[in-house]
Amino acid sequence: MDPEFAEVSDHDVTTITCVCGNTVSGEGLIQANAQGIPVHSGGNTPVPAGLAEWPEDEDLYTLCPSCGRVYSDTVVEETGTAPVALRVDVAHAPVAEAIRVHWELNA
Ligand SMILES: [Zn+2]
Repeated sequence: MDPEFAEVSDHDVTTITCVCGNTVSGEGLIQANAQGIPVHSGGNTPVPAGLAEWPEDEDLYTLCPSCGRVYSDTVVEETGTAPVALRVDVAHAPVAEAIRVHWELNA
């Protein structure tokens, strides 16, 4: 199978239109780590249960919480294309729990 690509403009991950049709202004997109787990972006505050730590190497990914496709921010920023890097199961732990915590904090 050929890799799937999301649509993206100007090397900007916030403009991704996921393969499933979701966008930032739709169901939203979430910053995640290389495993597709949503990360905590609250600076030096403790990492809430369920979320992953902000990656020290700043290797961030963008998770579509609607379908579980994950895109590499580095690839998007360097190439202006958004191939699907991996897929995670958004219906089950640990991703489902992390998404719930993320929206609670960002409501
Ligand atoms: Zn999607």
